[in-house]
Amino acid sequence: MNLLNERIALACERLKLTEIVDKLEMMIQEAAESELSYSEFLGRILELEVAAANERATLALIRFASLPFYKTLADFDFAFQKSIDKKQIGELATFRFLEAGDNIILVGPPGVGKTHLAVALAVEAAGTRHRVKFTTLADMVASLQRAFEAGNLAQRLPVYTRPSLLVIDEIGFLPLDRSQASLFFQVICRRYEHGSIIITSNKSYGEWAEIFSGDEVIAAAILDRLLHHSTTISIRGESYRLREKKKAGLIGTGGGKKLVKPV
Ligand code: ADP
Ligand code: MG
Repeated sequence: MNLLNERIALACERLKLTEIVDKLEMMIQEAAESELSYSEFLGRILELEVAAANERATLALIRFASLPFYKTLADFDFAFQKSIDKKQIGELATFRFLEAGDNIILVGPPGVGKTHLAVALAVEAAGTRHRVKFTTLADMVASLQRAFEAGNLAQRLPVYTRPSLLVIDEIGFLPLDRSQASLFFQVICRRYEHGSIIITSNKSYGEWAEIFSGDEVIAAAILDRLLHHSTTISIRGESYRLREKKKAGLIGTGGGKKLVKPV
């Protein structure tokens, strides 16, 4: 590196322009070869640094979100899950719903891609600089219950109420008792009309009272707030997990004599 480039690199390091430091020599050479104007060159190197800063911010938001896995909308096979309208999901990913504080409820049997879509929308939200938190209902309630017992519920609640988007996965797997339902209700009330929620559930709304151990009053109160401004996406159809297993020959396709192997 010549003396001038070393000075530039030092200045960039001082200003934490790490991307420019890494690519300086290459960018200067490219600029000379393609005879860029001074302003074009400056524009390009600054854009490079901005793109890297955006990527770092997105990664930090994704890390903060505590996603169970990393999957995107591009990884989702819409041709397989015909009951999902790709255009509708695309529209949701433009995040007008986040600005309006609306909710998305993904309902369907196991393996149809509810968590995948919720994660993918969370990734998109992080990409547009929204703070996201992912949790299962069981984990959220357990964490709030611990905080309640330790007398610091007020400090714990913001974990779930502050992010722009809260994903609550797996509603309906385990029933909640009265105190757990009340903690869930508090989160829903505090987010109502100002912070979006994405929910995934294997239960249709008619079955929600079961989630609250038969307490229809709290089920209705929660549903009322959740559904007021919301989009419900009902996913029918086959489990993607089972399809993968069928493809691998682990499960019979229905008509044949193949036995189900333990998986
Ligand atoms: P659910 O939450 O509805 O039980 P998941 O979202 O966990 O289902 O999906 C199960 C697995 O199958 C995941 O690895 C997910 O990425 C994958 N999967 C489900 N549906 C699709 C799809 N249509 N295209 C690609 N992968 C899918
Ligand atoms: Mg799931």
